[in-house]
Amino acid sequence: MFEKVLIANRGEIALRIHRACREMGIQTVAVHSTADADAMHVRLADESVCIGPASARDSYLNIPAILSAAAITGADAIHPGIGFLAENAQFAEMVEVHGFTFIGPTAEHIRVMGDKVTAKRTVLDLGLPCVPGSDGPVPTLEEAAVVAREIGYPVLIKAAAGGGGKGMKVARNPEQLREAYQLARGEARAAFGNDEVYIEKYLGKPRHIEIQLLGDTHGACVHFGERDCSVQRRHQKVVEEAPSPALNAEERAYIGSLAARTAAAIGYRGVGTMEFLYEDGQFYFIEMNTRLQVEHTITEMITGIDLVREQIRVATGAPLGYGQEDIRFQGCSIECRVNAENPETFTPSPGTITGYHAPGGLGVRVDSALYDGYRVPSHYDSLIAKLIVHGTSRNECLMRLRRAIEEYVIGGIDTTLPLHSRIIAEPDFINGQYDIHWLEQLMARK
Ligand code: ADP
Repeated sequence: MFEKVLIANRGEIALRIHRACREMGIQTVAVHSTADADAMHVRLADESVCIGPASARDSYLNIPAILSAAAITGADAIHPGIGFLAENAQFAEMVEVHGFTFIGPTAEHIRVMGDKVTAKRTVLDLGLPCVPGSDGPVPTLEEAAVVAREIGYPVLIKAAAGGGGKGMKVARNPEQLREAYQLARGEARAAFGNDEVYIEKYLGKPRHIEIQLLGDTHGACVHFGERDCSVQRRHQKVVEEAPSPALNAEERAYIGSLAARTAAAIGYRGVGTMEFLYEDGQFYFIEMNTRLQVEHTITEMITGIDLVREQIRVATGAPLGYGQEDIRFQGCSIECRVNAENPETFTPSPGTITGYHAPGGLGVRVDSALYDGYRVPSHYDSLIAKLIVHGTSRNECLMRLRRAIEEYVIGGIDTTLPLHSRIIAEPDFINGQYDIHWLEQLMARK
């Protein structure tokens, strides 16, 4: 087992990783920017190292500074968390070259799955269904027009290096194609330094269903069921739940075992998620995330398994030690992503927390690095808390969520909690009847 793990991240996820390490008897090293000197992950870790100024490029993305911090503190392993360097193959490689263990998949897996074009090719060859679209990258507008005509409008232009919903544009007819194609390429170039794009059929009413996977270094791979992440705004998840109200047991077993078999076939190690769109009883692979996900918490609630602990355990080379049949699902879980944003305009709302009270009680979990007097910096992602509930039924979850949102006090800044209140009061949500377009349609209506 590792003695010391460096956590190359910040915010709630840094704290989440620290907690798993603590329970496992592993010492932690926090790294932080100057803007995060007072952050909770820094306060709780055994040691901390300042790795640069506020700008993420100079701190949380600063590979030499992070590797130096690992060397001077004598860490055995580095956990990249979520975002920042978590899906940077070069970082994974450099971590290992410098003699530390990367708590995640191999650099090669990150590379193959990080390029959505090669990812789709890889899983298609292994028998996973994908959304109909171009066979590979589409380098010119003329080729885009040919592909779009073949698959039929509407189409979605997507960045090969995409993430966070960036570099994705819909064209509903040939007239819109030029603008969508150019906008997608421009956005992809700005966000990822890579303007390669591909095309998919734009599905009209799918749900976003994803499968949580875990592989060890001995070729074993299991799945922990699905999460339904269809409540989205601008292709970004807002509320997630497990299990999906739309799947039956047969469909769950089918897509879960298909995803696990595919991950095993490529020798995948660590936690990972295969994302699918689900429409009219069909699943279509869209991408694989080679890291922990924000919404891993709801899977933990319904399986009772600490996914970060499992991630660390398999990174040491330990075998899974259990099979698919040992994984049991209990009840339901829903997560609300609480952002420091205006709940109507979504403009960021950084600032000082002037009062903080987190909800508690049976079946309520809050993953957050907030505290009274903390200053939410303006430099990073606006996710400040995850409010998670667990219940024996979906109804119990909704009941619990309602009262937990009422209890939650985050003073001094705007948060998206009022949006969550609104979502969970909607009859469609209560009935589990929503697709990926539902939230935006709801917001456009009122
Ligand atoms: P990113 O990596 O940027 O998050 P994804 O490929 O995971 O991009 O897609 C994000 C979201 O965009 C999906 O959850 C879904 O809501 C929407 N989306 C992606 N592909 C399609 C498609 N072919 N048709 C309709 N919606 C799509």
